[in-house]
Amino acid sequence: MTGRLPLFLDLGTPTPTTRDVANTVKRGGTSALTDADRRADEARYQEVACRSALNPVNGMPFKWTLNPYRGCTHGCHYCFARRYHVQFEMNSDDEFASVILVKRNVVDVLRKELDRPAWKREVVAFGTATDPYQPIEGHYRLTRECLAVLATGRTPIGLITKGPMIVRDRDVLLDVTRAAGATVCMSVPTVDEEAWRVLEPGTAHPLQRLRAVRALVDAGINAGVLMSPIVPGFSSSRSKLERTMKAIADHGARFVGCNVMYLQDGTRSHFMAFLEREFPSMLPRYERLYATKYPPSSYRKEVHGMVRVLQQRYGLTRRAETNTTAAAEAEGIKDPEQVGFAW
Ligand code: SF4
Repeated sequence: MTGRLPLFLDLGTPTPTTRDVANTVKRGGTSALTDADRRADEARYQEVACRSALNPVNGMPFKWTLNPYRGCTHGCHYCFARRYHVQFEMNSDDEFASVILVKRNVVDVLRKELDRPAWKREVVAFGTATDPYQPIEGHYRLTRECLAVLATGRTPIGLITKGPMIVRDRDVLLDVTRAAGATVCMSVPTVDEEAWRVLEPGTAHPLQRLRAVRALVDAGINAGVLMSPIVPGFSSSRSKLERTMKAIADHGARFVGCNVMYLQDGTRSHFMAFLEREFPSMLPRYERLYATKYPPSSYRKEVHGMVRVLQQRYGLTRRAETNTTAAAEAEGIKDPEQVGFAW
């Protein structure tokens, strides 16, 4: 960034808002984000100033979500959050996984929101639109700081991640647990290496994630696994489901939930293009199975039935408390809708 003026200097604000970023991208594409920091992982990180930290949601067992970042370098091809990147005038394909917005002031904003007398200490869910433990969290530590603020504010949390880095934050997660309650859901859709490699290119190995679950449980944190999403043809066979369930049980998970993949808007176009490119022979079957956003209920029932049998077999019948993302997934509740997304 040497040798040129910061892009947003003329706006009179040290850090642009997400709206500033969206307007800039609209005018000149993501290459116009000349202040975005390109790091060793080749992703670009654009710091932004958020106006609110907590976003209200409808139709979920929790009322609030918190996402310190937007976009996710884990880059799972099935990710339902891909479509949210369109809010920033970016695409749900490469840009979702390579242009990450970092809410630089999210901790301070959250602190102010929790200080409001009207705050009712309702459950706050992390991981609904981005992974709070994607690699950049090692640098910014925004998730960790937010958790600390929530512990002080005696606010319960639910968190879903694919990032083993969460083990770093056992101490603050325990603080939240003692102050108000915390449930961690590690997302491990499958332990099948081939499916992992092709579907979740930027994530840690599934067994590394399961070892993180073991470490969290040993530390006294309510941690379990979400086998979500189960992706037809990639991770849905009985033998793959059984291997995954056994590995989850072997690593001491306290609960397990699952859901079959659904495809909506930007995620659908991305996933179908991915199939066409990498697995063209699967495309016709997918077009039939996903005539709508969800596969037919008969298919979903069959998969859920197999999972239930395996849960019994491996002693994993306990579900997460009902105030968590895990419970929502386990109950087959639809994805959280961001309501009144705050620019
Ligand atoms: S880790 Fe989660 S948020 Fe990130 S790409 Fe994968 S599914 Fe999406």
